[in-house]
Amino acid sequence: MIRVIRGVRDILPGEAVQWQSVEAEARRIFGLYGFHELRTPIMERTELFARAVGETSDIVEKEMYSFPDRKGASISLRPEGTASVVRSFMENGFERQLPWKVFYMGPMFRYERPQKGRYRQFHQIGCELFGPQGPLADAEMMAMAMRYLGQIGLAEGLTLELNSLGCPACRPAYREKLTSYLESKKEALCGHCQSRMDRNPLRILDCKTPGCREIAQSAPHMKEHLCDDCQSHFDGLLAHLDGMQLPYQINPLMVRGLDYYNRTAFEITTGDLGAQNAVAAGGRYDRLVADMGGRAMPAIGFAMGVERLVLLLGEQNQTTPPAPSVYMVVAGPEAEAVALAAAESIRGADITLEVNLQGGGMRNQMKKAARSGAAITVIIGDHEAAQKVAQCKVMESGEQQEISLADLPERLKSDLK
Ligand SMILES: [Zn+2]
Ligand SMILES: [Zn+2]
Repeated sequence: MIRVIRGVRDILPGEAVQWQSVEAEARRIFGLYGFHELRTPIMERTELFARAVGETSDIVEKEMYSFPDRKGASISLRPEGTASVVRSFMENGFERQLPWKVFYMGPMFRYERPQKGRYRQFHQIGCELFGPQGPLADAEMMAMAMRYLGQIGLAEGLTLELNSLGCPACRPAYREKLTSYLESKKEALCGHCQSRMDRNPLRILDCKTPGCREIAQSAPHMKEHLCDDCQSHFDGLLAHLDGMQLPYQINPLMVRGLDYYNRTAFEITTGDLGAQNAVAAGGRYDRLVADMGGRAMPAIGFAMGVERLVLLLGEQNQTTPPAPSVYMVVAGPEAEAVALAAAESIRGADITLEVNLQGGGMRNQMKKAARSGAAITVIIGDHEAAQKVAQCKVMESGEQQEISLADLPERLKSDLK
């Protein structure tokens, strides 16, 4: 037997019910804010991710599924959503239609060590907004993310955490200060942090090792070293959040994993998964479009992991697909000759109906009808077929009535109400 690839899994029909509602709510809530769905391809030129995510990032260096196509071009399965959105924005000339507001949802791929709740094919829902530079956009984005998470049933225990990561005007000086502080504590840092000190000292601030955490607490923080523009952007954001009475916590140790973020960084965390865990994460990336060959373009976005959302909703293993409203028992060759036409006319009235397609005796078929969870069973035997009628049994009361096939759709519709 051929099994599924390691780190990849099926989303079975019962669980998919949960996924569908998480996705449907995203479409609905983001729509309230004027965001529209963008569907980008699952594969892109490897170069796109190297440029957007960073040639030396772990994602590009170690985690991408990359392969040559039949002509030798290097193709990669997307490891995240933003790079493709930026490409599509530039390629389709949306600079002329600002603001551009899109959301996406779908599978992403990373070759990581599989662990509980982490898969090599995982799914994200994300939003990106291009054009607005001021903090109004940042505040609205956060409100939208919070509304969405509340709407799907996660309102309890959510915390909005935010920080400013500065900009090219103020970050280099801060980075120097941070590096020299970290140099003085180098011996106490974990091995991983020692090795990334030169490349990415900011990431040391969110290292989970206890020793590093302590050092990070008393390190110089970006928030105290912002230039005037970054400071007023950050102050403006806080004022807008206060204006909406949206509670937040400033977390000076939050840095984003990707280099392209500037100014606003935010995470929405929940205590529900044991440790405080992010269910949504995002930030501003005002330089990315220009870095990728477009013109300077302010932008902000966030993404959420669908596996985690579904896990938090806690029903992923319990849900069964919804029962049909009507089950049709078909006993005998004459009955079979009329059953499907009758079933079609019932479905034409927008009623979910499952026909017994497997034959079998009456008793056996009635058992299947009970097991299906249908509210009403329609029984057609050869005798009924000859008379162009069916027996309709209300499963709860056991009450049974003979109804002509022509009247079935209307009668079922009113009975099901
Ligand atoms: Zn700045
Ligand atoms: Zn560390």
